[in-house]
Amino acid sequence: MTLSFRTVQVTKKFPLRISRGLSTGSTNLFVFVSDGEHTGIGECAPGTGFDETLAALAQQQLTDLGDISGKSIAEVYALATAAGIDSGAVAALDIALWDLLGKQAGMPLYRIFGLGKPTVPTSVTIGIEPPEVVRERVPELLKDNNGRALKIKLGNKDGIEADKAGYEAAREVAGWAMLRVDANGGWSLEDAKHMIAWLAERGCDYVEQPLVRGAEDQLAELFAVRRLQIYLDESIRVAADVARFADRCDGVNLKLMKTGGLTEALRLVAVARAHDLRTMIGCMGESSVSIGAGAHIGALFDHIDLDSHLNLNPDPAEGLTVENGIVMPSDRPGLGVELVKS
Ligand SMILES: [Mg+2]
Repeated sequence: MTLSFRTVQVTKKFPLRISRGLSTGSTNLFVFVSDGEHTGIGECAPGTGFDETLAALAQQQLTDLGDISGKSIAEVYALATAAGIDSGAVAALDIALWDLLGKQAGMPLYRIFGLGKPTVPTSVTIGIEPPEVVRERVPELLKDNNGRALKIKLGNKDGIEADKAGYEAAREVAGWAMLRVDANGGWSLEDAKHMIAWLAERGCDYVEQPLVRGAEDQLAELFAVRRLQIYLDESIRVAADVARFADRCDGVNLKLMKTGGLTEALRLVAVARAHDLRTMIGCMGESSVSIGAGAHIGALFDHIDLDSHLNLNPDPAEGLTVENGIVMPSDRPGLGVELVKS
């Protein structure tokens, strides 16, 4: 089994501003695993801050794992995690190994997992922008998913009146789209109580990460009086986090760049279901490669937010389709995606 690597600078069509800052693009690291006949591909896209230096470090760390021939995917995941490798790089290797397995078996990954295809449309995402930009951009974004669901980023540094203006601007132009809000931890407890009550009267279906990661004690108080379902994202990285906070959220947002790939993602969903929680899959700045991995397990989720590849100019990979707003995995073996030659 041989590993090889390639980094690609990807640029966003629309820069994405959230409560913590602005992202215009990212350095994405692609990992290839070959058995001599088939080659699996995975992608590390942890977002802003991951640069060529960190990509080179990740390549070295993955190479230093040594010969992984003969090890199961679960064993490789455990080995890479124990070595302290960043979860995004672990994800790239894990996804590449699953892709390779699918290619060896001649089956698409969703069938390897015993799943059907996803049936839930993806949200598209509008970042924190002035109301006039929101009104102009939302209809453009909604062309990508047949106008089915819009995630509105709030937690504006100018305060909750600016958040309200942004939400109302999006709602004016969102047509029939389902509306949901992600505060990315940008609210205080008092702001969150106020905003959730306000949003509950204005057609919002759920709120994601109202309080900053680390404020889970306060979250219990918010959960007790909530009028909308609360999903946790930044507070949840791996399956064990779900058990810690299951008594103070309605659902969890899994990302492959946080779990370290598909292996731990399957465990996280199982733990969430065991706690009677709802589930969502989200993304960072992935292209069609790691978004494709998410699409293959899309049937496991109540909500899907796999839109980052739709906002790349250009997407360096291909193999996914969008059908009536649903990001569909390929029927080719493995992930069924590949980097476009350039
Ligand atoms: Mg989120």
